This record gives sequence, structure tokens and C-alpha cells, in this order.
Amino acid sequence: MPIAFDNSYARLPERFFALTPPTPVPQPRLVRLNQGLAEELGLDPVWLSGPEGLAMLAGNAVAEGSTPIATAYAGHQFGNFVPQLGDGRAILLGEVIDRFGRRRDIQLKGAGRTRYSRGGDGRAAVGPVMREYIVSEAMAALGIPTTRALAFVLTGAPVMRDEILPGAVLTRVAASHIRVGTFQFFAARQDTEGLRALADHVIARHHPQAAEAENRYLGLLEAVIAVQADLMVRWLLVGFIHGVMNTDNVSIAGETIDYGPCAFLDAYDPATVFSSIDTGGRYAYGNQPTIALWNLTRLAEAMLPLFAEETEAAVQKAQDALASFAPRFQAGYDAGIARKLGLPGDSEADTVLGAEFLGLLGAREADFTLTFRHLARLQAGRADEAPLRAALADDPALEGWLARWRERSAETAPGGLLHFNPAYIPRNHRVEAAIAAAQERDDFGPFEELLAVLAEPFVEHPGYADYENPPKPEERVLRTFCGT
Ligand code: AMP
Ligand code: MG
Ligand code: MG
Repeated sequence: MPIAFDNSYARLPERFFALTPPTPVPQPRLVRLNQGLAEELGLDPVWLSGPEGLAMLAGNAVAEGSTPIATAYAGHQFGNFVPQLGDGRAILLGEVIDRFGRRRDIQLKGAGRTRYSRGGDGRAAVGPVMREYIVSEAMAALGIPTTRALAFVLTGAPVMRDEILPGAVLTRVAASHIRVGTFQFFAARQDTEGLRALADHVIARHHPQAAEAENRYLGLLEAVIAVQADLMVRWLLVGFIHGVMNTDNVSIAGETIDYGPCAFLDAYDPATVFSSIDTGGRYAYGNQPTIALWNLTRLAEAMLPLFAEETEAAVQKAQDALASFAPRFQAGYDAGIARKLGLPGDSEADTVLGAEFLGLLGAREADFTLTFRHLARLQAGRADEAPLRAALADDPALEGWLARWRERSAETAPGGLLHFNPAYIPRNHRVEAAIAAAQERDDFGPFEELLAVLAEPFVEHPGYADYENPPKPEERVLRTFCGT
């Protein structure tokens, strides 16, 4: 057996999923296999890129040991509860234990219709698959918890969207695909037994320390709150905007999941929104921690029957747990900004310096990533003040700020900031250009080059210099679209 599947989710009660083999495609073509990830998973890249591997990655054959399922979940979409969502175009092939002993899901996204497809075709278009591949791998290279991309296959079958587009399948790897919405699915059915079975599965798999708590289910809620608060810190520190933080897109394991209309900030503005469907700005860059807490409150509600016999007592316990989110997020964020600036971060003065720097960026509509990188290069002795001054439009407040920053950052080793301020992020205009080249000319060169640049985001390559730059006015992407 080429892959040692061990499918713990498929051993849960039947109502957790629907057994669903993928639907075959006419002309599978492997565009990209993630060799490093394959090796990390203990999979043989040669087998994976051969005919049998390709058949599995395209959904044309069910590999030995795989039990393909579509999982059931519910979710709040833009604040409205939908009791039945589920994997409408994703099929979990199974789980493997990776080289570090971690259990990882292997899932095909875009592999055909399932019981949960509703009106959808179960397929994915090439653009969203490429976007997810690029951005999820960039997030991983930035050190941010995320699902991964193992393979990208073209199906040879077109998909109908606003236009006719090439169809594709992404092989996604995740700690698991269990979401806040998975808990909501059972809560909505008053299926407390299912809820408990799910919670026990999640504790064993993702948050084993919760089993040591006085109340293991409260321990689980606290653990999910902690990983989500930490994830919001990480997103904000790199300028990531998820775009669709519905509760069905929130991972219980704390990974970034379901890359749809996601995008990175160019100019710093907390109100930034790219998603075409987020007209109210619910999922704006700066609103993400607030929304994460809203989503966690929905998780707490769903878990209430597990906390205590009495509703009132359960609510009180849940509220106490939720109260830990804001301080944890704020402490993590302040510490992260201090790290980006090379400050000790142990005094209010450092928090003020951070806020002032962000204030300058906002006032001057300066590029978030590049301006921090200019400062990092200045601190490393690789550049003078000129690029930073230019980025901030010669703001007169910079001089006084720099004087105080120099004093407070004096103890930081030169070059120390380069590790916390990436040169390269998956900028929207680059992602769109890579997709356009593939779609219009079957040219995957820009895609490959972009992946190479983003694989080492903190290391400058002279040949890639232009990749650090924000878009020119005519290159700016103002809207991104949902990943269907
Ligand atoms: P998303 O917002 O992409 O996370 O998807 C929300 C819900 O719509 C999930 O239940 C998806 O499985 C489902 N869905 C999205 N696109 C499709 C599609 N093309 N076919 C079937 N279901 C889909
Ligand atoms: Mg079933
Ligand atoms: Mg989703």
C-alpha cells in the first residue's frame, strides 16, 4: 500500500459524514506536486507523480486504504445561520501520520458533487485553486498555522462560472478539517451525544491538554480560544485578510483554512476589504479579531450542553473562557509589533512607538510590508534612511520617531528585524498575474516563480527585487472573488 492511511474521522458515527467517492475527470494533468510536503507526510513523490498517484490526486481512483468521505457541518455565513452546509466539493481521502508523528488530513477540493453540494457542481476553477496553492504555501513559509497544498491537477473538464474556466483539483493537507461549524451542526440538531463524540475526538487529536482540565470541554473551548487569538495576531502582523471568516471557515485546530477571496494589505488601512461580497466590511483587516471572538462565541454556544447541567452555570463558564480572548490577542499583538520594530516590548513607551509607526503608515498610505522592511534594512545597516523617508512621504514626524526608536531598539542585534518583517508576501497583483498567465496562455512560469519567491519570504534575492514592490497604480487589484 503506497499510502498508510488511518482514517479516524471515518470511524466516527455515520451521521458525521457521507461516504462519497470522488467523481472521475476526463484528462488529468499534474501541474504541481509539493515535493517537500510529500516527503514531510512520508509519501513517495515519485509514486504521487506517476500514473497511480495522479489518478488519486485527480479523483479518478480511490487509493488502497482510503475511505473517501464528505463531512457534515453547519455555519454562520455573514452572520446568518445555515444548519446544513458540509463538504459540497471537497472529499476527505483519509489521514496519514507524518514524519513528526502528527495526524494530517488529505483532502481533494473540487473532486465532484457530494450529499452536501446543494446547487453547486462540486468543482473548482483553476484560478481559486492557484490562489489557495500560492497563498497557503506563502503562509506556511511565513510560519503561520495553515492548511497546505500538496498538489494541483487540471481536470481537462471546463467549469461554468461567470465565464467558462478550466477545472482543477487541489489536494489540501490539514491538521483536520473540523470547524466551528462542525460543532454547530450537532448543536442545531440537539444531538448532544454527537457533540460529545466530536469534542472527545478533537481533544484527543488537537488539544490533549484539555483532558487534564477540571472540565475537559471547557478546557477544549479555552484551547480553541487560545489558538484562534494567536492566529489573529499572526494574520494582523503580516497584513493578511481572510475575507470570509464564516464559522464554517474557522478551524478548531487553529489553522488558516478555506482561502477564498483572501488578500494581503498593500497600503496600511485597518478598514481594508477586498472581497467583492463583503460589502459591509464585516471581514475587514482590522475587524478580524472582533469577528474571531464572535465566531468563538458561537462555538461556546454550541458547546453549552457539554459544560454543565444547568444552563446558567454553563453560560457563566463559557463567558469566563471567552473573556480570555481579548487580553491574549492584545498581548500577542503588542509583543509582535514590538518584535517587528526590534523593541524590548516591556514598557508602555514601546506600545506607543508601535501605534505611532502604524499611524504614520496609515496617514501616508504607506505600504505595510515594504515600509517595515525598509526599517529592518535600516536597522541592519543595509540601507540608509532614504527609502523609509520616501515610503512615508517625508513625513516630518518621522525624525522624532526615529530618535526614540533608536534609543529603545539599541539592544537589538543589527539585522534582528529582518526575521520578523518579510520582504515577500503574495501580493494580489502577482497572484492575479500568475492566474492570468495560466488561464490565458497555459503558462505556469509566473506561478512557479512566485512560489519560489514566496518559499523564502525573509531572504532577499537580487533577481526577485521587483517582487517586494507594491503594485503600480494601474496594477492595483481592488476586488477579489469567492473561491468557487
Ligand atoms: P466556502 O464559502 O467556499 O467555504 O463554501 C461554503 C459552502 O458552499 C460549503 O459548504 C462548500 O462546500 C459549498 N460550495 C462552495 N462551492 C461549491 C461548489 N462549486 N459546489 C458545491 N458546493 C460548493
Ligand atoms: Mg453518513
Ligand atoms: Mg468553506
